[in-house]
Amino acid sequence: MESVCFLSQLEYGSMEQAPLPRNMIENSMFEEEPDVVDLAKESPSYPIDSDDVVYEPRSSRLLVRGLGENDLDEEEEDYESSARLLGMSFMNRSSSQRSAASYTRQQPSNSCSMPSAKKTLMGILVLVVVALVAVIIYFVPRCTFSKDGCQKANSSIEQLYPKASNGELFPWTGLRLPASVRPVHYEISLQPNLTSMTFQGSVAISIVVLQETNKIVLHSYNMKIINGTFQDEKVNILEYKPWQQIAIKLSKELKKGENYVLKIHYSANLSNSYDGFYNSSYIDTNGKRRVLAATQFEPLAARKAFPCFDEPAFKASFVIKITREAEYISLSNMPKATTANLSNGLFEDEFESSVNMSTYLVAFVVANFSSVSKNVSNTLVSVYAVPDKKDQIHYALDTAAKLLEFYNGFFEIEYPLRKLDLVGIPDFLAGAMENWGLITFRETTLLIGDHSSPIDKQLVTSVIAHELAHQWFGNLVTMRWWNDLWLNEGFATYMQYMSTEEVFPELDIDNEFLSVRFKALAKDALNSSHPVSADVSTPEQVEEMFDSVSYEKGASILLMLSATLSKEAFRKGVIEYLRTYKGCNTQSEDLWTSLSQVTNPHTDVAEMMDKWTVQKGFPLVTVTKTESQVKLTQEHFVLNADNATDRSNLWHIPLTYVNDTCSNSSSCKQVFLFKNKTATFKVSDKVRWLKFNCRSDGFYIVDYGEQGWRALIEALKENVNVLPREDRAALINNLFALSRLGRVSFRQVLNLLVYLKNETETAPLTEALTQLNHIFRLLDKRSDLLLVSRMTTYIFMVFGDLMDSQSWGEESSVSKQALRSALLETACNLGRPNCTDQAKRLFDQWMTSNKTEHIPGDLLKVVLSVAAQTKEDWQVLLDTYKHSIYDSEKRKTLEALASTQDVRKIVWILKAGLDGSEIQTPELPLVISTVCRHSAGYLHAWDFVKENWDKLTQKFLIGSFPLQSIIMSTTSQFSTKTHLDEVERFFGSLKDRGSQMRSIQEAIETIKLNMRWMDRNLATLWKWL
Ligand SMILES: [Zn+2]
Repeated sequence: MESVCFLSQLEYGSMEQAPLPRNMIENSMFEEEPDVVDLAKESPSYPIDSDDVVYEPRSSRLLVRGLGENDLDEEEEDYESSARLLGMSFMNRSSSQRSAASYTRQQPSNSCSMPSAKKTLMGILVLVVVALVAVIIYFVPRCTFSKDGCQKANSSIEQLYPKASNGELFPWTGLRLPASVRPVHYEISLQPNLTSMTFQGSVAISIVVLQETNKIVLHSYNMKIINGTFQDEKVNILEYKPWQQIAIKLSKELKKGENYVLKIHYSANLSNSYDGFYNSSYIDTNGKRRVLAATQFEPLAARKAFPCFDEPAFKASFVIKITREAEYISLSNMPKATTANLSNGLFEDEFESSVNMSTYLVAFVVANFSSVSKNVSNTLVSVYAVPDKKDQIHYALDTAAKLLEFYNGFFEIEYPLRKLDLVGIPDFLAGAMENWGLITFRETTLLIGDHSSPIDKQLVTSVIAHELAHQWFGNLVTMRWWNDLWLNEGFATYMQYMSTEEVFPELDIDNEFLSVRFKALAKDALNSSHPVSADVSTPEQVEEMFDSVSYEKGASILLMLSATLSKEAFRKGVIEYLRTYKGCNTQSEDLWTSLSQVTNPHTDVAEMMDKWTVQKGFPLVTVTKTESQVKLTQEHFVLNADNATDRSNLWHIPLTYVNDTCSNSSSCKQVFLFKNKTATFKVSDKVRWLKFNCRSDGFYIVDYGEQGWRALIEALKENVNVLPREDRAALINNLFALSRLGRVSFRQVLNLLVYLKNETETAPLTEALTQLNHIFRLLDKRSDLLLVSRMTTYIFMVFGDLMDSQSWGEESSVSKQALRSALLETACNLGRPNCTDQAKRLFDQWMTSNKTEHIPGDLLKVVLSVAAQTKEDWQVLLDTYKHSIYDSEKRKTLEALASTQDVRKIVWILKAGLDGSEIQTPELPLVISTVCRHSAGYLHAWDFVKENWDKLTQKFLIGSFPLQSIIMSTTSQFSTKTHLDEVERFFGSLKDRGSQMRSIQEAIETIKLNMRWMDRNLATLWKWL
């Protein structure tokens, strides 16, 4: 799925604007089926590792107890355990009941006075009575009070089972499904009704028994089960809603190796959110609302469309049948096999039986779409969109065709299906989704019209490249469980940049990949980060894995590995991996094993890479050079280092460096594996400086010490070309990071930036601009007007000439476009007259020509944002937004609308984004992040989030990437104690409505770091700006 990379690209240019941006036991399939929950196994996976930022343990405590998905605070926990000792059963309560119970125990908020002696005495008396009753209950067998009497002597096991919705005991106690049976094949028949927005469904699941068992447990969520049969005999289907599971209990043991068929008939509503089988709509150019139905199953929503074994390791084949009206077409993963005319005037499409695949990759669409197609090798590639946009699908078709050819060659395994559809869905939340053979996209990431710029093409190309890479990485070979999501997403992200660079070098994607690596470092420098491969069990935790670490850090460490082994060795290893595990499920070690096998001389890839996936964070390498002696030290780079975090972690760093005598050619590069805490080596006396981490291929930050930095800065001031542009950008990035860490003074950062007057390359310039904009926004939000104005003057001093010399005409180089749009957006935003006047002129020309005069696509956002500051033009833009059929234009118009400084308009646009009628709800995170860039709307956005939290979590799942983005946009620019307290209070009050999300820890940590930065650097800023 493409989520992170998509937003981060669109939100280019600011760290806080691009809030990047979603384990348990090993594969349960290969484990003994537990009779009772293994209490020892599930210790909290997230260490409480600092006294400054106190985090709640993240792993599901529910799993420990077999409860629902709520985490308990310590007080509750004590209550639970004592209660259990007293024999009270807590196993039967649904999560809502549980919350209600815990709330009733709380005192009313206004009764916090000390209890009187009389009351205390009464309290003790009541407690004694309760304890006595409880002890009696404990010693009397449970079944004494039950209708059925004692069935088994071992009632303690029974006590662990929760109650199904009909009151019977539900026969399973884990969030993960039992491994006793495995699905082999599904026959799914669906009858969606796009008028009533409901659907009827039936599923026949062929299963094979792996271990003798008398129950079958699978997933199902939000559907009405009408009836079920097992081997054509009617069975009772039990449901346990908190875990989204259903089960059947059988009177006889199922025999190992035997096959059986379970059939279920059900009905459900087409979902109103953006997952499951959901309804989507759009207004066509005639003003008529058109409806369609589409699916988004990753990670856990296949269970909302059909009962299934909804874990990635339960692969099976699927036959899908869909009933539709004549005006629609239907699409699914596989080519259509037959269409039948039904007696009621409807049609039933049946699709060919699929390859073996995970449930989250199943997909279907019922819509009225237009398409174009072409053949690539043995595959028919087609692109679909709503009829109004059929002129905009040709670029995607050509691009997908080229990339498919590239991947067929690169992986040396042909894409296994006879067709590949790419479908633009109006009202789609993720960037795109890699469903096998039926990739779904947001329209912005698929469609290219006349108005699109080369940067828009870069986005569309890289998203297609990402999703196509998944057809091998993810679809053909799938991670065993969501803890290793990075195997899917890190790889697809790495491949998206690699393949785009190879196939479309003119799109300058390398700059984008570099800034993605910098963003990944920024996120991973927080204590609230997590290992690439991290324990997850609850649905919220699974959602949270779709984040910067899985995508961007995953891609970064793969780049580091590929640069170390050589691109060709890396490719050979990947081919080996795909061949070995084709059709199967894997974990990180499997990839390392395959890569090790092809290295010559043999490299233990697992030994090197293990630390990078199981430890959070990354190393800081400190270099001390005294004459010819170079000493290196490594330590964990963690921004809040004052805390008691374990900083003794070491990494196996494939270290690279060059020196001033040879720095620019690839043959200059020296490499060695740095495994220990320290290392020393010698260089020639003549060497003046060393630069480590060549081209920023490695995932680490380097501190050169005062002397080392001085030598590098002097060298750059003399001649910027002593180092390649990626290295220059990395020096800027690393020095800002070190200043944030407190290792270097901000004065030193300003020293380095002096060299920028000779800089012309996009990567270093945009990195400096991003960093300075970040600081500017923090100051701006503190309303320290004088300092804000000095900062503005400073930015103009560094970049002013470059800003003024940018052209406003057509520009074909993507890299130059990226640079000029970044420069001009900052210039106009800071009110530089040269910029705003020019923007107004372009807007007026556009208006007087009735929008036929072309504004270069990369300048559209800045031009419209300047226009949006006046009342009249804002209205014009709102009208443009509503009627535009060009999605890149539409999106930039929306960003312009959200950049208004008029508070009433800000309030309106936030509300409109939430209710979805005039602004599409999937765009709400973008609206919020744009509003938050400016001081006028920042606090309104925060209020809006607090007031509408429940509505927001109905639209965007708890833990999901859009919600992570909203939290970070609205809080990451606070830098005062008052705001810190407020943020902590609000999120703390949410309890089971999201208070456990990792992005909340990240938000709180970020505010604390902002506060610290201000404490340390305000004086320097006053002095030097
Ligand atoms: Zn993906």
